[in-house]
Amino acid sequence: MISRRNLLAASAMGAAMTVSAAKAGSFGNPDEPPQGAINAKGPGNLRDPGPQSQILGDQFPSAQSPPATDVGDMPTTWASFNNAPKRIQNGGWARQVTVADFAISKEISGVNMRLTAGGIRELHWHQAAEWAIMTYGTCRVTVLDAHGRPYVADVKKGDLWYFPPGAPHSLQGLGPDGCEFVICFDDGHADEFNTLLVSDWFAHTPPEILAKNFGVPADTFAKIPLHNLWIFQGTVPGDLAADRVAIQKDAPVATHPFIFPLGSSRPFKSSDTGSIQVADSNNFKVSTGIAAALVTVRPGGIREMHWHPNADEWQYYIKGKARMTVFDTGPNALTTDFNAGDIGYVRRNLGHYIENVGDTDLQFIGVFRSPHYEEVSLSNWLAHTPPKLVAQHLNVDEATIESWPDDAPGLMAKR
Ligand code: MN
Ligand code: MN
Repeated sequence: MISRRNLLAASAMGAAMTVSAAKAGSFGNPDEPPQGAINAKGPGNLRDPGPQSQILGDQFPSAQSPPATDVGDMPTTWASFNNAPKRIQNGGWARQVTVADFAISKEISGVNMRLTAGGIRELHWHQAAEWAIMTYGTCRVTVLDAHGRPYVADVKKGDLWYFPPGAPHSLQGLGPDGCEFVICFDDGHADEFNTLLVSDWFAHTPPEILAKNFGVPADTFAKIPLHNLWIFQGTVPGDLAADRVAIQKDAPVATHPFIFPLGSSRPFKSSDTGSIQVADSNNFKVSTGIAAALVTVRPGGIREMHWHPNADEWQYYIKGKARMTVFDTGPNALTTDFNAGDIGYVRRNLGHYIENVGDTDLQFIGVFRSPHYEEVSLSNWLAHTPPKLVAQHLNVDEATIESWPDDAPGLMAKR
């Protein structure tokens, strides 16, 4: 007998018709007619002679030849910053993927931004909560919360920030080379190119109102910019301690930091196969609207089959090569490839797993519109269900079921 695993391996390698494949019949996808290269009779089925972009096609091997177990017509789970148009100004740039670009991404929209050393993302605010992870360099952030508590901090690679909805804030790149980061808003429609900007409000307020509001003569505002700044080049900020003193005055002191060092935090799960680090309102107190899991998977490892009961998962792929399959009712199963700079999306409660299919570490972050991180592990569920009951479902003997992981490992190594 040919094992299911060997057949899966043969399928993954895109093997042409072999004796074993012929014997497999409708292996994998049990639906009729059978799908997948392994069930196609003859090499002509696998050729693709028409016009195509080799470079683009090669990035999506699972679309070129899906596993035979894939079925149905699920909407895409893939988007990317790599082909999102950049808005470039003097001081940095940003690009975004909102629900307008990525139909299933209803709970989260994403922004990728770069600021030069001294580059300023103008003082602004918005309706959505803002969560972010630094992926390069360092940045100084300022924010004022709804209790009038000012806050300033420097953020490095692997750190997060969280600004509640409506809390006014700024971002500025530090030396030597500024920064790059990814922002998530807790609303798929949120638009980084359309925020409430301090320069816009000044320009659209009568000078005599500005004079009354700030208790100064109207000509104080003779030189305000008439067009918004959004991103602009400023001078590199000085000492953080001096900025702390300058902003605090007699205001109440922020009771919790608006930043969190996720990259160096104690893992939620850890093994030889990698780690999962979590930041939610349990350890990152101010982050009441967003939870996140930073997942690192060694080559050959898998982020185990699981789902999230409380929120959709918005993913940003930081490094390595991933292949994710999402399972839905129908049945539907869709396998897609992800590279650095890509975005993935899994609706709440849909089963999924992610393989590291590269030769280097895979790292991605999952972002959830929820105060708490939650997951359900398939193996943990079955290991904590009477073995006799599970055995009758799967035709696997009870002794084998007893050997399955019973601690929700998060990650599993290649066997
Ligand atoms: Mn913002
Ligand atoms: Mn997940």
